[in-house]
Amino acid sequence: MEVQHHRWSGALYVDGHFRPPAAGGSLDVRDKSSGEVFAVAGSAEVPDVDAAVGSAVVAQRSWAARGYAERAAVLRQVAGALERSAEFRELIMRETGCIGGKADYEISAAAAELMEAAALASRPTGEVLQSTHAGRFSISERLPVGLVAAITPWNFPLVLGMRVIAPALALGNVVLLKPSPETPASGGLAIAALFDEAGAPPGILQVLPGGEEAGRRLVEHPDVAMIHFTGSTKVGRDIARTAGSLLKRTSLELGGNNALLVLDDADVEQAAMIGAWSSFHYQGQTCISAGRHIVDRKVADAYTRELTARAAAITVGDPVKDGTGLGPMINDVQVLRARGLLDAAVAKGARVLTGGTNDGPFFRPTVVVDIDQGSGLWTEEIFAPIAPIVVVDGLEEAIALANDTGYGLVGAVIGSDVHRATEVARRLNSAMVHVNDATPQDEALAPFGGLGQSGLGGRSGGDSNLEEFTEKRWLTVSSVPAQYPY
Ligand code: NAD
Repeated sequence: MEVQHHRWSGALYVDGHFRPPAAGGSLDVRDKSSGEVFAVAGSAEVPDVDAAVGSAVVAQRSWAARGYAERAAVLRQVAGALERSAEFRELIMRETGCIGGKADYEISAAAAELMEAAALASRPTGEVLQSTHAGRFSISERLPVGLVAAITPWNFPLVLGMRVIAPALALGNVVLLKPSPETPASGGLAIAALFDEAGAPPGILQVLPGGEEAGRRLVEHPDVAMIHFTGSTKVGRDIARTAGSLLKRTSLELGGNNALLVLDDADVEQAAMIGAWSSFHYQGQTCISAGRHIVDRKVADAYTRELTARAAAITVGDPVKDGTGLGPMINDVQVLRARGLLDAAVAKGARVLTGGTNDGPFFRPTVVVDIDQGSGLWTEEIFAPIAPIVVVDGLEEAIALANDTGYGLVGAVIGSDVHRATEVARRLNSAMVHVNDATPQDEALAPFGGLGQSGLGGRSGGDSNLEEFTEKRWLTVSSVPAQYPY
């Protein structure tokens, strides 16, 4: 792929221009399968963030003043540019180490975010309220928040960026995007290139690839009105602390340790297919992967056998090759972390039925039983293709175990009696739950988010975006000037 000489090479995207960072820092863009550096991005530091914020302040005034139709048109143009893009698919595959299906999903989901946001731009922005004062016109109106910083992770860099950029822009905000240093291209500069190509007004989207320092500056900068963070619970907690002391609006989309419940009446083959997808899809590196398989004893042996066979049949390797199911994990740190969790569980008596090995970043899909429920493999977010199974007796034990976590992102319940499975689903402490389907689900119109350690703030998607990216103002207009005693 010829991206070495791309116009964003070595650059940031500030005020509508690709330009090098003030201090000249750079980030390698790596192919996660081969380790090859195939492009270079600029790396933003504090002066770059400050310059971008300065131009964003100016851009926001004129962007918010434009009519909704102009804002919607820009979003539709970007959706078109994305769908026409010749390089995005391969860029996502190489930069995130994923198979083509996941890249296709990101592109279509990001285009859907843009099109839904274009429709959001024309939604009513207020309502007329009843008033206790005769002759008073009382309105609740929505205003843009202003400057929104989007700090994003590496796993779904395009769609997780776009789910903030598109609705925030639709509602008159401007966005400062800081992608993960693992994905500065598909999570940042290639998105900037789409906006540039679509003729978006300068400054409405500023892209600042970089690390912690750039992220911290965005959180602390007094002109940034809102932080939308997607990433780990640990960093989310740090951001919440800082933003709290600054009384700054935040929306935090964090990690999960999601339970998949297989009830005693589940069709075992179907359940194992859903279970395999939930734990192994994109190497288990999604916040909505299943990290805990909670299986009724009546079907546990058959389910375990079927899941193990499915895991053993998956081809792991270069995701560009046809037939590959799983590509590489994102980096050595994640591989070592997964190895550590697995080895510690095995030391406490867990048994690996298949997988458990890795060849560099290529981690075999792994099924584990006999887990000590105190081990990290059960209590922590795994973020690797590992499916731990715990056997339970009956619905009450299953529900209690599923809810025995501080996280609250997503759950799934598999059972033939749909009414009973739905009743179980409604008792799970998670912000999202799916009956007879996998834990990884996302739709542009659905409220996506987490409870407890999985998130704080609002929800992304559909009408929730109106709440998420606007402030309400109460405006009254009295036809006759009010009278007071003095
Ligand atoms: P991470 O928390 O390490 O980093 C996320 C982003 O924050 C990156 O851009 C990083 O550079 C930046 N950052 C790091 N330290 C910072 C600081 N102190 N101040 C400001 N910014 C800082 O997460 P990651 O490893 O990139 O992604 C994996 C995590 O993301 C997992 O925990 C996963 O569950 C979570 N995630 C959640 C969702 C969701 O919607 N709930 C979606 C995808 C991923």
